[in-house]
Amino acid sequence: MRLPVKDAKIDEKRAIGQIRYAIDRGVNYVDTAWPYHSGESEPLLGKALKDGYRDRVKVATKLPSWMIKTREDMDRYLDAQLERLGTDRIDYYLLHALNGTSWDILDGFGVRDFLDRAREDGRIVNAGFSFHGLGDDFKRIVDAYPWVFCQIQYNYLDQKYQAGTEGLKYAASKNLGVIVMEPLRGGNLGLPEQPPAVQTIWNEAKTKRTPAEWGLRWVWNHPEVTVVLSGMNDESHIDENLYSADAAFAGSLTEADISLVERVSLKYRELMKVGCTGCGYCMPCPSEVMIPICFEEYNRMHMFGDNEAVKFRYALRMSGDLVDGRPGYASQCVQCGECLDKCPQQIPIPEFLAQVTDEMEGPELQKRLTIARQVMKIEAK
Ligand code: SF4
Ligand code: SF4
Repeated sequence: MRLPVKDAKIDEKRAIGQIRYAIDRGVNYVDTAWPYHSGESEPLLGKALKDGYRDRVKVATKLPSWMIKTREDMDRYLDAQLERLGTDRIDYYLLHALNGTSWDILDGFGVRDFLDRAREDGRIVNAGFSFHGLGDDFKRIVDAYPWVFCQIQYNYLDQKYQAGTEGLKYAASKNLGVIVMEPLRGGNLGLPEQPPAVQTIWNEAKTKRTPAEWGLRWVWNHPEVTVVLSGMNDESHIDENLYSADAAFAGSLTEADISLVERVSLKYRELMKVGCTGCGYCMPCPSEVMIPICFEEYNRMHMFGDNEAVKFRYALRMSGDLVDGRPGYASQCVQCGECLDKCPQQIPIPEFLAQVTDEMEGPELQKRLTIARQVMKIEAK
């Protein structure tokens, strides 16, 4: 997902060099997906894994769940992915970015039959799913199929968000391997320039570590975690992450280390604009506003900056293109107040949604959405 880019395209020579460099030093799990780099990630990985590299790694890729309209589509995408990757099997195949709704849609199209058959004929070795929904739906999906593994967003800020710690422990208790994505929240927790209030806390650490190392070590400290996807786009990131991984065993952080990370997590929370935990109790909204996701993106913008990138993300996520095509923008709120009593955090939801509308939408929204669709090769639903 984060291969080096030159002139708006993957820098092929450098990317292949990086992948092989990492494998030569012990990386044995490589994750890609249909839409990454506008569809160019899988073919690039296929090239990188020639010359004997294929059999030295486990390859993971994902069914683009939002593009599936029929049972036949599933086989069509999988076969195309095998071709793109130049392989006869996907070691770890995921249904991409599930939530409760997208799982129900795929289930209705017969995805269990698809997975059963693809495992039987050997195109898939292990079946799993990646998840970006609410905690209760996570457990429901875990229980719905004999998965071998799942992939969740997890880092020291997201302990109670999406699957969260509860989901991590639940999946592990069901003997699922747990792959962690976003261990640094899209790289933000690892930025060398941290917000000053956060850096002050890091400076108190007895053992000096970079923010990225702290973030990764915190995730690896959990015995339930099987693999951490530490996105890397620079050679120095590979070296740094390999160095961290060498020392990062479950339970290897001290009590003092863990409480320092907790203080950083609390500080980040203070910098958040809305104290939304993403619990989803306010849903559904009669105007179909995706309330928790609006607040997630709004907080992301205020905690980490890089406003333009977050606004692109917001435009695409709220369009509904990645799920069922139904938009959920903050501006759809009609201020009916129905959600107010449902929020355990007593957040004045309509007021904050008005702020989200002001700061993240405006006249540029449609333009951003058009560009995001082009980059992701997504058609408007
Ligand atoms: S106040 Fe807005 S967000 Fe809340 S339920 Fe009504 S329309 Fe939905
Ligand atoms: S606004 Fe409140 S109820 Fe809705 S997801 Fe956030 S914390 Fe939960």
